[in-house]
Amino acid sequence: MLLDLACFDCVVKQVDKKEDKTFDGTSIPTPFEQVNNNGIYEFTCLKGHKSKTVIDNINFEILFEYGLNAIVDGYYRESVSSLTSAMERYFEFFIKTILRSSKNDFDLIDKSWKKISSQSERQLGAYIMLYIQVFGEEPLLLKPNSEIPFRNGVIHKGYIPTKMETIKFGNSVMKIIEESLLKLKGKHQNECFETFEYYGYKKKAKEDIEKLEKKTGRGQNIMFVNIMTTIDVKNGREKNPKDGRKGLVEKRISNIIERREPRSLILLKDTPKTK
Ligand SMILES: [Zn+2]
Repeated sequence: MLLDLACFDCVVKQVDKKEDKTFDGTSIPTPFEQVNNNGIYEFTCLKGHKSKTVIDNINFEILFEYGLNAIVDGYYRESVSSLTSAMERYFEFFIKTILRSSKNDFDLIDKSWKKISSQSERQLGAYIMLYIQVFGEEPLLLKPNSEIPFRNGVIHKGYIPTKMETIKFGNSVMKIIEESLLKLKGKHQNECFETFEYYGYKKKAKEDIEKLEKKTGRGQNIMFVNIMTTIDVKNGREKNPKDGRKGLVEKRISNIIERREPRSLILLKDTPKTK
């Protein structure tokens, strides 16, 4: 899986040029790194700068994208596993957002979450009940007679799914998350963003980096980058009808393949003029 990261030094250099042009044609190399769990990416950019970038995303956004990338790479079992994790971590996000919307402290939310954190069936129960409470209807879930046995077969019984089966499963998961997330944002946008900030990679990474700065006595130059994922809390694809992330899993897969071609990032000094 590839992430569009950016190099702090390159961006600073570009900004320092201060050329009086709307569009400065110099490209900034966009380094790619392997995905990790803490959201901090250290790399050497193509110009040789040692750089550190933190992604401004939350786990289920990245897990879903990871699942799509696994389809592209032909790892269908891994895809089903990542897509399932994305869905479960989305349920967690939903539950915490709803608890937050009733003015609960994140400390209390964390404390109560701990009691169900290792039991996905309990989490699912909480999700269904809270969803009905808030929206007055049942949430969309995996189909009990087909999709749940399929997922269990893959995850617990070593079943190797086909590409088509995996894509179909991906579309179901995408619908389950996206329909719910859109409604959640529609009703509790502020709490959605608050929960995103609180549990996203950025907050924890900032804390880790501050600790490191204290320990070493050296300041760190950090870039924060929001990776444009298919499932996206802050910059959802629903906002713009021309968003390049539109479409079902099939379309996303071809988009991911296109994006793996060498590309570069261009900094614009102003909003480009449209004719
Ligand atoms: Zn650089």
